[in-house]
Amino acid sequence: MPPTVKAPLFFLDYDGTLAPIVDDPEQAVPHPEIPAILEVLDNAYPVWVVTGRDIAQLDSFINRPLRAIGLHGAQSGVIGREVEYLVSDEAADAIASLRASLPSLDGIRVEDKSQAFAVHYRHATDEEEARERLRAWTDTMPEMLEAIWGKKVVELRPKGWTKGTAVHRICEEYPDRTPVYIGDDVTDEDAFDALHDLDREAVTVKVGDEPTSATHRLAGPDEVVAYLRAYVDAVAEN
Ligand SMILES: [Mg+2]
Repeated sequence: MPPTVKAPLFFLDYDGTLAPIVDDPEQAVPHPEIPAILEVLDNAYPVWVVTGRDIAQLDSFINRPLRAIGLHGAQSGVIGREVEYLVSDEAADAIASLRASLPSLDGIRVEDKSQAFAVHYRHATDEEEARERLRAWTDTMPEMLEAIWGKKVVELRPKGWTKGTAVHRICEEYPDRTPVYIGDDVTDEDAFDALHDLDREAVTVKVGDEPTSATHRLAGPDEVVAYLRAYVDAVAEN
């Protein structure tokens, strides 16, 4: 288990961390113990949810006004309430143009977010061909955009707004707290690196067994729950 710190500042990824990965992202309900755990943590410590999703997509899963970073760092807001986009109009227009030029490929599925979108090719008729055509398509996009390749998915988004820039900014608001970041995504690596660059202790936790720069690991949402429960117990004792 990662260490339990006295004055945590929580950064929690959603999918694969607080909720098991499922085929349909709209059915990604949190682990059954998570709502009660978040309630205790939120009353005792600062808690940020950090997700690749549009924050509005979390409204139905997290019934609490937690602060959140969405779209891998391009959005900031409160779950169930107001949300702010951090990207320029120019980048938003470029995303819209790119979306319009997506190659037509059998079996791909597009997940539209507010100022980003993801193309899932897990169910493409010819997965290999789909990946190659998508690679060629992303090679021609403007420099202000970037493509993030994940598990049979490519996400297109404005460049420069990462989970790393977001957590760096938030940590400055809490100089006396120890960041505790838990995530399973490739984009969480930006946050791990940003936290290791800070001049203070940080607990970085990779969920799963993929390569990481995080200093600790948990196997999946069940272990995330077990780790967070240690903080719940600490709150109860005080
Ligand atoms: Mg995740």
